[in-house]
Amino acid sequence: MGVGPDRALVIDDGSLGGLLGVWTASREAALEDQPEPVLLFPVTGRAREDVRRGLVEQHASMCGIESVITTPPIGVPLGADAGALDCLVLTHAAMTGASMGTGRIIWPVHLSQLERAGESAEELTRIANACDRAMLAGALASVDASGDGVRIELPYADLSDEQIADLARDTMAPVDAAWWCEGEPGPTGRRCGTCPACRHWAKLLGLAVTEEAPMPSVVTRAIDPSRIAPRPD
Ligand SMILES: [Zn+2]
Repeated sequence: MGVGPDRALVIDDGSLGGLLGVWTASREAALEDQPEPVLLFPVTGRAREDVRRGLVEQHASMCGIESVITTPPIGVPLGADAGALDCLVLTHAAMTGASMGTGRIIWPVHLSQLERAGESAEELTRIANACDRAMLAGALASVDASGDGVRIELPYADLSDEQIADLARDTMAPVDAAWWCEGEPGPTGRRCGTCPACRHWAKLLGLAVTEEAPMPSVVTRAIDPSRIAPRPD
């Protein structure tokens, strides 16, 4: 199997980072005349997974992307933490990329926090650990891959929420199609608009506090990776 560096696989969990990762990768691919990115939605049992999954389908349709891969449920051993879950998701994504001939994986996680970006040792450790996990998962998937192997990029890992919001504005990303709500969605499944996360992002993005994201109407579907032909070398 040959692994090419040109087509990107974006890990998209329906978050703002996921949206930005897809939005940016899609535009880069169009500008550089490269194949459209592939999206991978990790099923990890987190809150509002159905809503997030619908939003990822919406990201794909907005960017004209056909390929959304939904993973099987990814679980961690009892007592393991979020870092272990990241390891499993990254390994799954990297191996999916390798099997499809896609050597560039984008993990659009952002780990910094407003007003503390780069200033706390704890935060720097968190970012460094994420980079280590990404590098090792890429190396693991590269063992059986030919060509240049697989590498995982973290374009937003050390950006603060404020910088993420600036990026969303600068790129005119459709932020209504991102999920950050920690409250109870309304009857139509929209962001609540009133929980701390909704207020935080509404302020940073200049949204009205009561503004809510529309419930995606796109039918969710899973695409078998084997249906996507590897790129010719
Ligand atoms: Zn909310």
